[in-house]
Amino acid sequence: MRVFNFSAGPAMLPFPVLEQVREELPDWQGSGMSVMEVSHRGKAFIRVAEEAEADLRELLSIPSDYKVLFLSGGATGQFAAIPLNLATWASTVDYVNTGSWSKKAIGEARTFCSRVHVVADAKDSNYSSVPPQSEWNCSPDAAYLHYTPNETIGGVEFPFVPETGDVPLVADFSSTILSRPLDVTRFGLIYAGAQKNIGPAGLTIVIVREDLLGRARPATPSIWNYQKMAADGSMSNTPPTFSWYVAGLVFRWIRQQGGLAAMGERNRAKAAKLYAAIDASPFYSNPVDPACRSWMNVPFTLARPELDKTFLAEAEKAGLTNLAGHRSVGGMRASIYNAMPPEGVDALIDFMREFERRHG
Ligand code: PMP
Repeated sequence: MRVFNFSAGPAMLPFPVLEQVREELPDWQGSGMSVMEVSHRGKAFIRVAEEAEADLRELLSIPSDYKVLFLSGGATGQFAAIPLNLATWASTVDYVNTGSWSKKAIGEARTFCSRVHVVADAKDSNYSSVPPQSEWNCSPDAAYLHYTPNETIGGVEFPFVPETGDVPLVADFSSTILSRPLDVTRFGLIYAGAQKNIGPAGLTIVIVREDLLGRARPATPSIWNYQKMAADGSMSNTPPTFSWYVAGLVFRWIRQQGGLAAMGERNRAKAAKLYAAIDASPFYSNPVDPACRSWMNVPFTLARPELDKTFLAEAEKAGLTNLAGHRSVGGMRASIYNAMPPEGVDALIDFMREFERRHG
């Protein structure tokens, strides 16, 4: 019995991918072993690894002067790896603070750089909006500018890609990568943990422009040294092979769905429907500036918060799971990544209307 799983991550995976994994798990490609049991250096796995990279490059139209790395350590690992690879202790590094995940990235950067400059902070809007770039106070000599295109907890998404001139733009795409087409050439570095739109947890994707390689500090751990990892095909050590394999299946599934343009249209429609249902009701509300509402994470509150537990329990009974908001904010949150079918959103909206009719 499959449910509609609204978890923010690890999140729902496409069902055809799970079926393929189940089908080929015990005897992968006639090897008499599962893919989890084969050497990462064997021909068969290298082919999986290369195909996954080729499919990701195709989906995002990644130019040849960008490296794609398949790393471990999550997006949190990258919070440290980025300053270690791209800046010195004395460098100025610019950060935009739009919520919980930006704050974590900023906190980690302070361990590695003496001049972490917050160029804009959304606190005036209680982190419900993105400050327009005209109000940012950027450093002309920054080693990079970091931002979080989609705040997974607050449900705030940038409606624009920042313009940074010669300053490399670095972006934490963990909760929005592959949700729609993206112009990679605008970025110096894009990174994302896998467990939302890519595959199982354990894998972190880094897409980095070649001219940014070779600047790492001597103390950078080699598993996070972009140049070393690029030279070693992301296999300086044992990579998370199972996650990499599933990610490859997910990339192929997205291509079969029509690629990122089709995915984007589907995601736009899903989100629009859910926000319309919330806005049409006096019982539900979403605090985010409509121009900055996330297509992937939709937080909402009930007019009667004492009913939160009942809402969650009844939703679960209806096969709609993991709708609790992040522990830091409470309320509800529906994460509707690529693998959430439109029927899942429809079922949630029907449930919300019915719940409001009975309790509103
Ligand atoms: N950045 C964002 C935007 C996230 O949503 C998350 C995880 N929810 C992280 C970073 C941290 O990722 P990880 O747990 O893979 O380190």
